[in-house]
Amino acid sequence: MEIQLGRSVLELVEGDITQQDTEAIVNAANTSLLGGGGVDGAIHRAGGPKILEECRQLGGCPTGEARLTSGGNLPARYVIHTVGPVYKDGLHREPDLLGSCYRESLKLASAKGIKSVAFPSISTGAYGYPLADAARVALTTVKAYLAEHPEIERVRFVLFGKAAYAAYEAALRGL
Ligand code: ADP
Repeated sequence: MEIQLGRSVLELVEGDITQQDTEAIVNAANTSLLGGGGVDGAIHRAGGPKILEECRQLGGCPTGEARLTSGGNLPARYVIHTVGPVYKDGLHREPDLLGSCYRESLKLASAKGIKSVAFPSISTGAYGYPLADAARVALTTVKAYLAEHPEIERVRFVLFGKAAYAAYEAALRGL
């Protein structure tokens, strides 16, 4: 599914983030930036040791912020590493922090002149954020950013599995 928002395109696909040919892909990292499971593990496996070497120089990243490295051996030229909130009950700034991940990642892209970005569904794996709620926050935040930043031409959400895709599709229809 794909919608036009002003001059930008917002797109949902089911797939694997490591295979995307956007200029940047986003990693759902942890605060150490030293690798983990899920998307993080897949990106470092596919991208090779150069990405981890660059991450080591960055000295970590607080929750809700984002950092840039090269894409190593990935098709994408850059990886934007962002740290989602661990979900407790929704009353511990989780929506703010999750929105901040998407916004800060896109700000880095704008600053670098990156025109296309692929995101995974941040925080909905090991960090336990309910999928429908996370999808609403993700899509609302990206839509608002694109309304003010036509320099980003394409944002693609790469959803891992049918359930994640369906949740984002429902959220996008409900916006
Ligand atoms: P977090 O710690 O932020 O929850 P995870 O990596 O555990 O991050 O999971 C985030 C989401 O990414 C989950 O919905 C998971 O199913 C999905 N995911 C896992 N591997 C991939 C992949 N290779 N490409 C895209 N999404 C993935």
